[in-house]
Amino acid sequence: MDGQPTLFSRIIAGEIPADIIYRDDDCIAFRDIQAQAPVHLLIVPVEPIPSIANIEPSHEQMLGHLFVVAARLGEEFGVARSGYRLIINHGDDAGQTVPHLHLHLIGGRPLGALVGVAPPAPH
Ligand code: AMP
Repeated sequence: MDGQPTLFSRIIAGEIPADIIYRDDDCIAFRDIQAQAPVHLLIVPVEPIPSIANIEPSHEQMLGHLFVVAARLGEEFGVARSGYRLIINHGDDAGQTVPHLHLHLIGGRPLGALVGVAPPAPH
């Protein structure tokens, strides 16, 4: 990290507006600005962990908490019964654009086998 706050840290700090739907001491959830489905939420730890590749054993409890919050939001947003997908992108090939770990919660329409699979590109 270069010491600059991430986009999501700036949302957490209230410096950038977002449609925040949940927050507690460890995480925040808000609507994705470019929703891919009727329900597209981002669940973001307050700690600016750049990506899943930077996870350490000390993060175990917090990561579990993100999933507890995801399950609760799935219920709250009415997609628990119809189904939803949780996605974590890591790195360029997965299309990660914000270097601050986050869970996408996507639902509210049939999602097919996978969301956002682009044609193979040469490396
Ligand atoms: P990823 O590509 O996995 O890094 O996901 C980053 C997500 O953040 C994308 O789906 C973007 O649409 C979303 N995003 C970027 N800027 C904002 C913002 N200001 N408010 C809400 N979502 C955002």
